[in-house]
Amino acid sequence: MKFERIHLIVIGISFLFVSCKTLHPFTEAEKTLIASGTAETPFRVVQITGKQDSIVLRTPGSDVRNFANDATFHLLVERLKTTLREENGVGIAAPQVGISKNLFLFLRLDLPGQPVVVAVNPKIINHPDTTVCFERDGCLSIPDRSGNSVRYPWIDVEYWNEKGEKIQERLAGYSRRNTFTAVIFQHEYDHTRGVLFIDKLCE
Ligand SMILES: [Zn+2]
Repeated sequence: MKFERIHLIVIGISFLFVSCKTLHPFTEAEKTLIASGTAETPFRVVQITGKQDSIVLRTPGSDVRNFANDATFHLLVERLKTTLREENGVGIAAPQVGISKNLFLFLRLDLPGQPVVVAVNPKIINHPDTTVCFERDGCLSIPDRSGNSVRYPWIDVEYWNEKGEKIQERLAGYSRRNTFTAVIFQHEYDHTRGVLFIDKLCE
């Protein structure tokens, strides 16, 4: 009986430990990286030219849980905003700074003021059967290279914003002559799955 009771206690403690672990949105290594600077400190953007970096870029992310009130999550978002601004980009995904999570920032080129939007655990839930060849795609992680990429002209998406509110909307725009919000979302979404624009080149 005594043995069984101890056994149960051990199982109970293990269960608590596992539960606490899943409540935290980030690993210890991720927390250390995020906390290595303030909101105004840009991250180093990983590059496909580096061996370890390219492994990071090819690693699919995992969903972020319980993030809305997590200080580390909000610091990550602020540092990503700083990085995007410093790099002059239109979008940046967490895996590009070494955080393998399903999270990215994208510019709403189609809205007044072109606000930066945070997309957590994004999904593309609908798209047309037809694709377009988007001109001169480029990536902060692929230096000195641009190329045309296969994209959907519009997408229906679902994601959570930084406040933890669920958003569902249709994003359109696939031309550099007009706006290309739908393409930015697809490019950044691909990063969360370890996919790069050089995987979907077209003439
Ligand atoms: Zn990119």
